[in-house]
Amino acid sequence: QFEHPPTKLLRKGHKMTTSNFQVTNLKCEYRRNPLGIDVSQPRLSWQLDAPQRGAAQWAFQVVASLDKESLFRGDSVLWDSGRIETDQSIHIPYAGPTLQSRQRIYWRVRIWDENNQPSAWSETAWFEMGFLDEVDWQGQWIGNPLVGGPRTPVPSPYFRKEFELSSEVQSARLYITSLGIYEANLNGQQVGTEVFTPGWTDYDQRVQYQVYDVAELLTPGSNTIGAVLGDGWYCGHVAWEGRQRYGDRPKLLAQLEITLTDGRIQAISTDETWETAVGPLLEADLVMGEAYDARIELENWSPAITYPHPTGMAIVAQNTTPIRAKEELIPIKDPSIVWSWPHHNWIFDFGQNLVGRVRLRVKGERGTTITLRFGEMLDENEKLYTINLRSARQIDYYTLKGDPEGEVWESKFTSHGFRYVEIEGITAEPGRDTLTAIVLHSDNPPALEFECSDPLLNQLQHNILWGWKGNSVEIPTDCPQRDERLGWTGDGQVFVKTATYLSDSASFFTKWIQDMADTQLDYGAIPAVAPATKTLKKSDGGAAWSDAFIIVPWTIWQQYGDTRVLETHYAAMCAYMDYLVENSPDLIRMLPDERELGQENADWQIGGYGDWLAQDGNTDIRGLTPKNLIGTAFLAYDANLMAQIATALGKHEDANKFSQLFRHTRQAFIDRFITRDGMLVGQTQTGYLLALYFDLVPEHLKEPLTAALLKDIEVTRKNHMSTGFVGTRYINQVLTDVGRVDLAYTLLLQKTFPSWLYSVIHGATTIWERWDGWTEENGFHDPGMNSFNHYAYGAVGTWMYENIAGIRTDPQTPGFKHIILAPTPGGELTHARGVYQSPYGE
Ligand code: BGC
Repeated sequence: QFEHPPTKLLRKGHKMTTSNFQVTNLKCEYRRNPLGIDVSQPRLSWQLDAPQRGAAQWAFQVVASLDKESLFRGDSVLWDSGRIETDQSIHIPYAGPTLQSRQRIYWRVRIWDENNQPSAWSETAWFEMGFLDEVDWQGQWIGNPLVGGPRTPVPSPYFRKEFELSSEVQSARLYITSLGIYEANLNGQQVGTEVFTPGWTDYDQRVQYQVYDVAELLTPGSNTIGAVLGDGWYCGHVAWEGRQRYGDRPKLLAQLEITLTDGRIQAISTDETWETAVGPLLEADLVMGEAYDARIELENWSPAITYPHPTGMAIVAQNTTPIRAKEELIPIKDPSIVWSWPHHNWIFDFGQNLVGRVRLRVKGERGTTITLRFGEMLDENEKLYTINLRSARQIDYYTLKGDPEGEVWESKFTSHGFRYVEIEGITAEPGRDTLTAIVLHSDNPPALEFECSDPLLNQLQHNILWGWKGNSVEIPTDCPQRDERLGWTGDGQVFVKTATYLSDSASFFTKWIQDMADTQLDYGAIPAVAPATKTLKKSDGGAAWSDAFIIVPWTIWQQYGDTRVLETHYAAMCAYMDYLVENSPDLIRMLPDERELGQENADWQIGGYGDWLAQDGNTDIRGLTPKNLIGTAFLAYDANLMAQIATALGKHEDANKFSQLFRHTRQAFIDRFITRDGMLVGQTQTGYLLALYFDLVPEHLKEPLTAALLKDIEVTRKNHMSTGFVGTRYINQVLTDVGRVDLAYTLLLQKTFPSWLYSVIHGATTIWERWDGWTEENGFHDPGMNSFNHYAYGAVGTWMYENIAGIRTDPQTPGFKHIILAPTPGGELTHARGVYQSPYGE
């Protein structure tokens, strides 16, 4: 179903020439030339480049073929869309014959411009299908007989298989996955650049696989394929829950398919003919760290053990961005000495709180063990501050083999949140080049440049970006360092829009929305974290947390014009809404309740997490805003978003039903929480903000209610916020909407606690979890919950990009099809600059 281009575009009597349009940036399912697609109708997108104003696409034609040559010759074409009149140039579903496993489809596109003149053909792009059928997998799961327990890790298993190739290789693909995380190699060379593959999903339901083009790594004659496995999320530590949350040991499944130049096809799949051994990698845990003894050789190979395929687990293509090593940082100064016995320790400062690992370069005596400790801060005595890591060890051990030339080592299967590294065990004085930091994150293409005249604000922007880097490692996480690192739905929900500005995060969140869907309980509730383990999947996540299941897909649709993600999860989202309504007597939401949680959890979680970490002047970390007020406000908001979603999907009856639910919930909210003279129950900033942002205030009460909010900010708190995770997301936008953009700037530029710039002026390089993570008066906050890399408060980025830079999509035409450019200068700013790569281009 395409919309027709507006006829006014066609300028009558215009001289007919060839269009000067360039069709560029061809993508399939958000990626350029992707390998391993497993959706039956992949969507194609392109961008248009033309110098003139008013340039627009009038029509397009896509031609697809199984080989490049016939695309140019125009014969044996697989699919010719013909000329299709539409201005749509993103998310065009492939509509040729049913696609088969392994097929590579070459395609190109041309368009007709606003004068109905054809452009030249674009360059050729391709996409390649992965496995569409379970029977495509010929291999068996293999593992090593060694197995640990909930408290006892075992060495990482290595696997290998030798094979002969009788002639040159024409093409070769490696289809591979693991339970645990893998690194594969062919003839000693690492396959691909991806890290922590196959990624984290609810392994009880699905595991992702990757596809690599490995032709270059093979030679005629004898070859060896190998892999090593880390415990990863499958059987390593997950959060505070201990090891073995999904299974007891890592397993590998691989299939190498080779086409030789003589036309023969050879397949090497994992089975009992593979061999396994343990070697130098003594321990590999994402949360705890790694231990590597370089003296240990890989020997004593024995046959691998085969395992049946786990029931109910689907193997799906990774249709999202993998994690990669993105940057390498050098220490900003010479390492400093920390006294200890018998040798000194040294602390390295990378000048940036980051997520990843280090590369160690050492020379020393065989058998010396180097200990690397990672931390985000130094304490008052300039010692590494690690108490906030709780049970996450964040320590690596490397034992030297004593190479006189020196040794270089980098961990494979762990990640740490750190700015500082303390090194213990080296006898010679280290130099700055002893350690470099390798920054790891999901490789979402950067999309934003933002800069302005205020250096502190530029640092805040830097911190928002680094908070996103460190917390977009496979899933959107709360924090990357302590024993948590979970896809908390509340945090994800408040930050998703900012993330879509910082980078092209569409496929990243599409995958996470699936993770959320996988957590859904049979009665419709959505838990607080995704992916979840069995124990984390027990109950509803509460208001503003579980609502991520509506807010995140809606945001992805708004920012990227993607309706498929809505279609895919529509039924599940409706089931969630039914659950909310059934459990909200008179439309007042109070969940989750004791019945669901069991008595032992009830106290803690009842009503959800409130306005998490609010500064209401109360000691409850869930703030003072009544939980049922937050819950009811979010129920109304969800209903409103669902009405828009249903409309976008052409489900008009549902849209009416959800609009009605919105109106009724709004009324219930008004009746219950707003007094006749415009006061709000609880009288908290967050309460007012939700009421205003979600449109829950009757017209005649807007003024007194707004006045109460302004009074609390300006008078009571002297231009400070008291908001936690929930309210902070909206505060500056609401102030702007009520005509007080000046106050929004005042809050943004506020330097005294609590404020965004408070951490900035105290040296933060990422966003802190708490406004008072560290204060001049009290030093560090209680280490039980004090992360220095939590993106939630960075959600103010959305306000900065949409108001300072003034870039946003028109909600009526999602995906920046129609762009609103409306900078709102303010504060003391004398200039600002913003550049955004939208789905339609810059
Ligand atoms: C996490 C948060 C999360 C919260 C739920 C914390 O431990 O770090 O960011 O949303 O729990 O209340």
